[in-house]
Amino acid sequence: MTNGLTAQELTTYLLCPQKYEFEHVTELTGDTRQERDRFQQLLRKTICTGYSEARSNGVDPRDGAIEALDVAWDLYADAVNLHSSEQESTEKIRAEAGVDAYFDAIGTTHLEQIEQAAAICGSPVIGPDITLTATINGNEVGTNVDYIIATDNQIVGVRLTDTLWGSRVPWENKTEIAKNHLERGDYKPEQVGTVLSARIAEEALNEYSSDGTGAELMYLSVMETTFESADGCDAEIDYRRMGGYLSDTRETIDEAIAWMNDNIADKTYSPVEVFNEQEHWDGSFRQVVENTCQNCSHAAGCEEAVSREMMFDV
Ligand code: SF4
Repeated sequence: MTNGLTAQELTTYLLCPQKYEFEHVTELTGDTRQERDRFQQLLRKTICTGYSEARSNGVDPRDGAIEALDVAWDLYADAVNLHSSEQESTEKIRAEAGVDAYFDAIGTTHLEQIEQAAAICGSPVIGPDITLTATINGNEVGTNVDYIIATDNQIVGVRLTDTLWGSRVPWENKTEIAKNHLERGDYKPEQVGTVLSARIAEEALNEYSSDGTGAELMYLSVMETTFESADGCDAEIDYRRMGGYLSDTRETIDEAIAWMNDNIADKTYSPVEVFNEQEHWDGSFRQVVENTCQNCSHAAGCEEAVSREMMFDV
């Protein structure tokens, strides 16, 4: 837990300050991608349990994970309202394929590196959802990782991601995304949010680094290329490390964290005011309207949404 803002909350503010007020001040339920989220939560918990069991009881981490999946499955199947036994069977095959692909590729390597991280950090290194906190420009902020690994020259927070990660986490050669969004009037709030999270994780993990040891966040996708075939289901893993990405954009991100904290402390939630009248961001409310309002679950009760129709006739 953190007393400050989380990367998720800051990302919502970047999407639309009014949306932030609805979801994090008034505490209305936000947009839902519930079934997909639950599937990813299941996999994240399963993988982390595999590691915990391996460390505590010496079991093979993959076996520990599959056992955890079996234990959690009925609860999951009830919660997501699967339509048929065939659909449930397919979903479980997908989950098992994801766990297999994950542990085949990096299970043992990361188990050893988790042990190394535990020796360095001396605090829980296996989640899911370990909250890392940092102070950036005088503001406490937090972000979640699923586990922490360490090598001789680096401490890395690992965030297991969902199917949308490919479009949300920028590629290494897209280092301009944060500057384009914040300083040049582009609108990529969710991508910038993944960079915010990486910056917070880096700063938090720096606490454990020493001379010559760096820290960074790694996004690791478990199921994103899963597909069904006549023989069953295949899965792959992929990852993106964010340390090199941050080198050109750290200052921009830190400034954004500061102005969002100031705006939220001042209860500034009007997107028109934030985007059209402040100097923090070089875009316009129109970009919120064109990209976010249409799919926003708060549109029906949102005065900004009414005014947008008068402003832009959308
Ligand atoms: S409808 Fe538009 S202006 Fe209103 S909260 Fe949602 S994104 Fe923001």
